[in-house]
Amino acid sequence: MRITVLGYQSPYPGPNGATPGYLVETQSASILLDCGSGVLAQLGNHLPIHQLDALLLSHYHHDHIADVGVLQYGIMVHQLFSQRPKDKPLPIYAPAQPIANAQALPYKQATTFHPIDEKTQINIGDMQISFLRTDHGDGDPCFAMRLEASGKVLVYGADSGPNTKWHGFADGADLFICEGTYLDHNKPREPKGHLSVREAAQVAEELVCRSLLITHLYAEYQVEEVKSQAQAYQNGPCHIAQIGLQIDL
Ligand SMILES: [Zn+2]
Ligand SMILES: [Zn+2]
Repeated sequence: MRITVLGYQSPYPGPNGATPGYLVETQSASILLDCGSGVLAQLGNHLPIHQLDALLLSHYHHDHIADVGVLQYGIMVHQLFSQRPKDKPLPIYAPAQPIANAQALPYKQATTFHPIDEKTQINIGDMQISFLRTDHGDGDPCFAMRLEASGKVLVYGADSGPNTKWHGFADGADLFICEGTYLDHNKPREPKGHLSVREAAQVAEELVCRSLLITHLYAEYQVEEVKSQAQAYQNGPCHIAQIGLQIDL
């Protein structure tokens, strides 16, 4: 399984940057996790967009979905140019709420919508995928994703506050992609629905994950600064998200 960081910044992309999006490739499938602002421009460096097998959306905040509309146009155009069969829409797996967002996902013959919740199990190529609702504030659901293929486990934590129930879902993951929205100096007194870098490292250590990728960072953060606050994680390699970073499991 190969994971490529296409975007990791939040809440908006820095210069030449992109908000969350991760390409996951196995021997038989290529899927995109979230589709933030600038993600499509990065995707083209790694895979022609018409070769995508599925898009999975964790939730509908703008930093995770901003490029969905242009992806729909892209698939439509590639179908017109016969680079992708007209009877092969791109399936988009995403929460059913808010309804208005879900209703915007089917587009012509280009994309279809498939609702997800904690009971959903999907198979895409050799990947098996399941979901966990995270602690992410405002009442609308946000889902973390567990992807398994060839004996490897990737957990994408999406946006997740400290009350997310990771045990039984993320324990021992080969790679845990965990958000670290705050550093010590800008962490709100009562943070809602997000973790700090320090907390992300603690969670990954507690879950005995085999490697960690800290993401969902402000574009202005310096890698060394993020690393220095992630020292609670000692169980394996700790990656700090960068556009184009690739991790092979
Ligand atoms: Zn969010
Ligand atoms: Zn976000």
